[in-house]
Amino acid sequence: MNRYDTKTLQEYDRNYVWHPFTQMKEWERDAPVVIVRGEGSYLIDSDGNRYLDGVAAIWTNVHGHCKKEINEAIKTQVDLIEHSTLLGLTNDKAAILAKRLVDIAPPGLCKVFYSDNGSTAVEIGVKMAFQYWQHQGRPRKTKFISFKNAYHGDTIGAVSVGGIDLFHGVFRPLLFPTIQAPAPYCYRCEFGESDSSRCGRRCLQELERLMTAHADEVAGLVIEPLVQGAGGMIVQPDGFVRAVRELCDRHGILMIADEVAVGFGRTGAMFACQREGVTPDIMALSKGITAGYLPLAATMATQEVYNAFLGEYREMKTFFHGHTFTGNPIACAAALASLALFESEGLLESLPPKIGYIADRLQVMIEHPSVGNVRQCGMVAGIELVRNKETKEPFPWEERVGVRVCREALRHGIFLRPLGNIIVVFPPLSSSLEELKFLMDGIEASIEAVILPSGA
Ligand SMILES: *Cc1c(COP(=O)(O)O)cnc(C)c1O
Repeated sequence: MNRYDTKTLQEYDRNYVWHPFTQMKEWERDAPVVIVRGEGSYLIDSDGNRYLDGVAAIWTNVHGHCKKEINEAIKTQVDLIEHSTLLGLTNDKAAILAKRLVDIAPPGLCKVFYSDNGSTAVEIGVKMAFQYWQHQGRPRKTKFISFKNAYHGDTIGAVSVGGIDLFHGVFRPLLFPTIQAPAPYCYRCEFGESDSSRCGRRCLQELERLMTAHADEVAGLVIEPLVQGAGGMIVQPDGFVRAVRELCDRHGILMIADEVAVGFGRTGAMFACQREGVTPDIMALSKGITAGYLPLAATMATQEVYNAFLGEYREMKTFFHGHTFTGNPIACAAALASLALFESEGLLESLPPKIGYIADRLQVMIEHPSVGNVRQCGMVAGIELVRNKETKEPFPWEERVGVRVCREALRHGIFLRPLGNIIVVFPPLSSSLEELKFLMDGIEASIEAVILPSGA
C-alpha cells in the first residue's frame, strides 16, 4: 500500500528530520513509530498498528482524525482557491469565520486578527496591548505581567511572557523582562497552602501588590485561563480568572487570555473564560481552531482595543503586523466545518458524562503509591508521578519516569506525550466512553508496569 516500507521511512526520518524539543542523539538510536493514517480517535502506523491518540495530536484534535465533514470542506475549498491574501483583499471563508468566532466568543470580543500558530497569536496580543497604550497617550505602559510556570509558545516574545525555566534558560539574553506573578499550584504551593482556594487567594494578593506597585508601567497581563497547559496541566481554583479580570480592570491593565490550548471545548465550555463569565480584552486562539487539521490562529480583540488603532493614515496608528498565510481560506474552511460539527453533533452537550468518567478514574488513580496528584478541568487532566507521596519528593528528572510510562503505553495501544513526570490526558473531544476506558486502563497499567517493579 505504501511505496516506502517502514525501514526506509525510519531511515529518512533519522537522516533528514530534526524533531522539536527532542535530543536528536537519543532519537537517532530509536526506531520511531511512523504514522501514516488516522481514524477517529486512533493513529495508524506504517505497519498497521493502531494507537489511541491520548494527546489529540498535541492538543489540537477535536472531532477525531480524518473526519468526513472536515475532509469534504477542505476538498471543496481546494477546488475554489487555495490561498489569496488579506493584504489588500479579503476572502469569503476568512470573513465568515470571523463572524462565527465573534458569535461564539465571550461577549465584547468583536474583531479577529488572523495568524497561523499559537505563539504568533499570543505575540500579536502582546504587541497589540503595547501599541494600544502608545496610542492612548500612556507611553510608559510598556511592561507585561506574566505568571510563573506559564507557557505561551516558542517565539521570542511568547517565551518572554512565559514562565518555565527550562524554556527560558538558554535564551534569557534575548528575552524582554516581565513582572512575574505567582500562579496557583496548590500541590506545590509556594505559600505552603495545600487548599486550592487558599493557594489561589495568596496568589491574587501578591498579584494585587504587583499591580499596585507597577500599574503605571504595565500594558497587559497574559494568562492561560483555567489551566496552565505545558506547565503541567495545573488547574486554577474557581473564581481565579474572574478575580484576575477584576484586578486588571481596577488597575487599567489589558487582560490577554491565551486560550490556545483550552479554547474550543476542552474545558467543557467553548472557551475557558466563559466558565468564569469573563471577557478578556484580547484572546489568543489556535490549536483546536481547525480541529487539528491545519495551522490557523486568531487574536480576538474588543471594540475598545480596536478603536485605539483608528486614525488618519498619517497618524501612523496602523497595527504594523501580518503574516503571509493570514486568513488562509483552506484553514478557515476547515475551522468553519469544525464549528458546524460542534453544533450538528451537540459536542459540548455530549461532554459531561465523559468528563465525569475521567474524574471517576482519577479518583481511583490517586490511591496509587506513586501518584502524588491528579487534576482535571473538563476533557484535560494531569497525573503527577512522585517518588514519595508523603514528602512529595519528585522522581529525579534524569530517570524520566514520565517518558518511560508513555513508552510503555505504546505497548498498550496508546500514544501519550508527558510533561516531565506528569502524564497528560488530552483525548479528542469526540472520544467515546469505551475509548476513554481503554485510555485510562492503559495509563493505569503503564504506571503499574513502569513504577512498581523498580520498587520506587
Ligand atoms: C501550544 C501553545 C502555544 C503555542 O502554540 P504553537 O502553535 O505551538 O506556537 C501557546 N499557548 C498555549 C497555552 C499553548 O498550549
